[in-house]
Amino acid sequence: MNEPALITARGLRKSFGPTEALRGVDLDVRRGEVLAVMGPSGSGKSTLLHCLAGVLVPDSGTVEVAGRSVSGLGEAARSRLRLTEFGFVFQFGQLLPELTAADNVGLPLLLNGTPRARARTAAGAALARLGLQDAGEKHPTELSGGQAQRVAIARALITRPKVLFADEPTGSLDSLAAENVLTAMLDLVREDGTTVVLITHDPRTAAYADREVIVRDGRIGAVVA
Ligand code: ADP
Ligand code: MG
Repeated sequence: MNEPALITARGLRKSFGPTEALRGVDLDVRRGEVLAVMGPSGSGKSTLLHCLAGVLVPDSGTVEVAGRSVSGLGEAARSRLRLTEFGFVFQFGQLLPELTAADNVGLPLLLNGTPRARARTAAGAALARLGLQDAGEKHPTELSGGQAQRVAIARALITRPKVLFADEPTGSLDSLAAENVLTAMLDLVREDGTTVVLITHDPRTAAYADREVIVRDGRIGAVVA
């Protein structure tokens, strides 16, 4: 078990004007691990996730994924990395309302240069893995909240990313729908061996993770094995 971590963060600090959102965070995420990140609102969870994923560059400190610096890359290289190596799911799926579910799911492949027909086939398969084989031609407004989040998950996983970053992915759902969506997501990531960083407020959600960390005031607090 001495395999190096897939994600290594050291000494992360990030301020927004006078607000110190991260005050020195060290974190390792093992390959294939599902890590839950908990902590009060405003404690720095989303900022941490954005630094890990190269959405934000920390003011100081480093992030490496698979031995490659993320924090040291320029904007173009970071956005390429996000598109090819990472998947993202947010509280509100952020589906494009003018596209069908299938076109939403296939979009990352199109952006990667995959031919349209192949992207469509892959989108259909990805939707089917989440039990949405009949929803491909629907638009986001025709989907339930749980279905919309499943579409967002299918979209995030369609590139078979190394890491899935999820920021309260079931936070907008009632508890039954949340549990169904979460277990569907975790079934897929466990099958694919995807590493997951999952922000959640819900202790029951965290219980599905391999490990949890608590962020408090921009620092990692208690760590539960
Ligand atoms: P959490 O996700 O735990 O709720 P965030 O990482 O979103 O916390 O925010 C941490 C702190 O940084 C909060 O005080 C928040 O208001 C502040 N913050 C986050 N993003 C920005 C931003 N883009 N501009 C200004 N302040 C921000
Ligand atoms: Mg947040």
